[in-house]
Amino acid sequence: MPLFDNHGRPINYLRLAVTDRCNLRCFYCMPAEGISYVPKKELLSYEEMIRLVRVLAEMGINKVRITGGEPFVRRDLVSFLRKLTDISGIEEVHITTNGVLTTPYVAELKAMGVASVNLSLDTFDRQRFREITRRDEFDRVLNCFHSLLEHDISTKINAVVMEGKNTQDIIPLTELTRQYPVSVRFIEEMPFNGEGSHYPILVWTHRKILEVLKQHYPAIEKIPDSPTSTSYNYQVPGHQGTVGIIAAFSRTFCGTCNRIRLTAQGTLKTCLYDQGVLDIKQIIRKGASDKTVRQTFAQAFRNRAKDGFEAEQQHRQHSVSESMSTIGG
Ligand code: SAM
Ligand code: SF4
Repeated sequence: MPLFDNHGRPINYLRLAVTDRCNLRCFYCMPAEGISYVPKKELLSYEEMIRLVRVLAEMGINKVRITGGEPFVRRDLVSFLRKLTDISGIEEVHITTNGVLTTPYVAELKAMGVASVNLSLDTFDRQRFREITRRDEFDRVLNCFHSLLEHDISTKINAVVMEGKNTQDIIPLTELTRQYPVSVRFIEEMPFNGEGSHYPILVWTHRKILEVLKQHYPAIEKIPDSPTSTSYNYQVPGHQGTVGIIAAFSRTFCGTCNRIRLTAQGTLKTCLYDQGVLDIKQIIRKGASDKTVRQTFAQAFRNRAKDGFEAEQQHRQHSVSESMSTIGG
């Protein structure tokens, strides 16, 4: 049965962060040093996650994206994924990964029917990769990219566009779509790096990214977007893949938002820009029944902010500087 929020938007998509830990230190996501990870016992256990997903599946969630932190740094991720793909009602499991540890598991992901993998790769230049991620792992990520394609797993490349860091990569990354059937998505940078905003105003907006694409590829064509897509999608004629632009900071997609988030420590977010609306971990650890969990979720879905601006407004009263590694993107 479809689940609707208080603004009439269907909710069917859960983004589940399985850890806040990561083996990279991306400039736009985390500070270089001084990160305090959540103590292990405060993370949801796999059993707790499976229970919550089962309850949400009964309520109408049919799509789950595994994210983090870096999902593959959590031990036994693959056995957890197997259990997740077996939950009745969960039709699609997707993963977002930085690709550093992923390659050995790609064949298994294919075998268990993982629907797609989003690989974060902001540049095809080894040196810039090291500057952005503060780690020298470009080769392993590149291997992962090729392995995903070899195993015929639907693949998207996520690239955050950053002034002074990788704007020269917009065209080389788009060139990947000439040869490979991938979707390359350029994302506006959000101020979720654990330290606050990097710039007084965002220069690399979705409009500016599109201008660069149009200048280089005058024949680039708009292609249809799926109804709940967060990206505006394009294709260069003759290219195998597509290009998307995600207005993550401009927030042009809130009207059709079908997603909720569970952070690694078990906080429900009904908007990327809220500060967490419910501590579901505490509720289940106090012994709540599935019925109570369902009712608690349902109440939160009936109180969803209209859009990311309203959610952020409520957030502002608390001066928190979040990192995307706890939110999950
Ligand atoms: N570690 C995995 C990875 O990097 O793919 C999964 C977690 S990461 C937080 C999920 C996505 O969020 C990545 O594609 C990353 O590029 C994006 N992201 C992180 N910080 C961001 C920011 N400040 N603005 C926009 N996107 C961001
Ligand atoms: Fe790690 Fe992903 Fe954040 Fe980069 S974007 S620091 S890979 S969680």
